[in-house]
Amino acid sequence: MVKKEYSNFIEEIIEKDIESNRYGGRVHTRFPPEPNGYLHIGHAKSICLNFATAQKYNGKCNLRFDDTNPLKEDKKYVNSIIEDVKWLGFDWEDRLFYASSYFDKMYEYAVLLIKKNKAYVCDLSADEIRQYRGTLTSPGKDSPYRNRSIEENLELFERMKNGEFEDGSKTLRAKIDMSHPNLNMRDPVMYRILHTPHHKTANKWSIYPTYDWAHCLEDSIEGITHSLCTLEFADHRILYEWFLDELGIYKPQQIEFARLNLTYTVLSKRKLNKLVDGGYVQGWDDPRMPTLAGLRRRGYTPESIRDFVERTGVTKSDSVVDYALLEHCIRDELNRNAKRVMAVLEPLKVVITNYPEDEVEELDADNNPEKPEDGVRKIPFCREVYIEKEDFREDAPKKFFRLAPGREVRLKHAYYITCTDVIKDKNGNIVELHCTYDPKSKGGWTDDGRKVRGTLHWVSAKHCIDIKVRLYNHLFKDEEPGKDDSDFIESLNPDSCVVLDNCKAEPSLKDAKLEDRFQFLRKGYFCLDKDSNKNNLIFNRTATLKDSWSKIEKKTK
Ligand code: ATP
Ligand code: MG
Repeated sequence: MVKKEYSNFIEEIIEKDIESNRYGGRVHTRFPPEPNGYLHIGHAKSICLNFATAQKYNGKCNLRFDDTNPLKEDKKYVNSIIEDVKWLGFDWEDRLFYASSYFDKMYEYAVLLIKKNKAYVCDLSADEIRQYRGTLTSPGKDSPYRNRSIEENLELFERMKNGEFEDGSKTLRAKIDMSHPNLNMRDPVMYRILHTPHHKTANKWSIYPTYDWAHCLEDSIEGITHSLCTLEFADHRILYEWFLDELGIYKPQQIEFARLNLTYTVLSKRKLNKLVDGGYVQGWDDPRMPTLAGLRRRGYTPESIRDFVERTGVTKSDSVVDYALLEHCIRDELNRNAKRVMAVLEPLKVVITNYPEDEVEELDADNNPEKPEDGVRKIPFCREVYIEKEDFREDAPKKFFRLAPGREVRLKHAYYITCTDVIKDKNGNIVELHCTYDPKSKGGWTDDGRKVRGTLHWVSAKHCIDIKVRLYNHLFKDEEPGKDDSDFIESLNPDSCVVLDNCKAEPSLKDAKLEDRFQFLRKGYFCLDKDSNKNNLIFNRTATLKDSWSKIEKKTK
């Protein structure tokens, strides 16, 4: 028999189910975010997995808001999630659902369990429930309310629904087994009292279902075939199956996979929330945030994120993925597609003393050497240009292949220049360089075989525009912020955003649009920030040019 090649273990399970006609050959998945924060790159993994797997088997994938906790949820998160899933490139068609639309149904199911004597109203406080639960090594204790009659439970539960009791004074619990080896089976709470309005159901409910009770019902109601979730829910599967079996309703197959972790990053909405609320970042879409909104603003494309997710694979064991891989994916794409332009981030003026005072030349510059079909543009050149401060050294060592007194370099697309004079202010700071150019080197080469080692980017002083740039580094100093119970806030990198507000760019950048991607020659990949306006152009650096991942890859090959 030929062994089939599967691309991951989830597809292997699905293909077996299709073969055995388990769900009538159907494949139906869902992405079930709780609208209590913005989506992050970890969610992207779940989105790609659910939508792409459904697509592969001609199935369907729902977008479902798991909105069962009004204390933390908000309409603004619903909107951001919808925007982000669309942006990533996935389509739920007409299947946008809310767990809150099933609240009536869930209530009916709870009543059914009470009638079967499989659920009871309990008056223990949250603390007491915890104490009664026991531990991994010792059994729990029955609640004193466990043996209430069915009639009393029905009546109390209805009164809970009607809002007659205080928050926290009662719960509805499943009646399973207080000495079950799996703690999730020790009479888990199904409903809690919360007099809190909900973004969809307003004041209709004063009881809300817990995650464990609600989640398996949502999957069942929607006819999900394969419920893909992260590993921490493996221990809950037995409880989900108990609920659905007791109710005698449709049961999906839950399959767990390892969540995505990234170095130098935290991926938990609780922690990301703390960064936003504490003012450690500028908001959920701060370009340093691992949120999809942040990555988008940083210049990441949906393609690069899907590519990244694909490369991380689907596994059964937890691991931390190197941030360099994410950067590699965007570089790979931008190297192919980004328009090459010149911008000087820390300008130093150069006067070309033998160049005619009022002359301006329009020189040809290729837009992308990787894509000749992108053509060339004209860039202006004149007697005064800016180069990068760091491209000049007065006492340059031999191996400094840039500009120094008496040395010759190439200005990209333009001419060879030689430094003749260094002009300083009264404090000895270099304010200007004087150079001569070689008119026979137009375009940046000569036919006399002369070699120059360095090629510098530059802009025309007369024609350039002012821009600001933001250079980003890791948001955290440590590979695993918050590891070993340390406070992840203490690991914040004070240099995670460096703003340079006196940069000079070639004039073509004045027409930059938000969706444009640029390579600033020798400086990295950049995109326009949404806070820009005509008089204040701000560019975010998406990534540097140096690719540490491709080095790692080469080493391991
Ligand atoms: P967080 O801990 O960030 O709040 P969550 O799991 O509580 O995440 P949900 O909104 O409940 O957030 O997640 C929606 C879906 O995304 C779930 O199916 C969850 O398993 C998945 N998911 C969340 N984080 C990751 C991750 N880091 N890697 C893969 N999948 C994830
Ligand atoms: Mg959650």
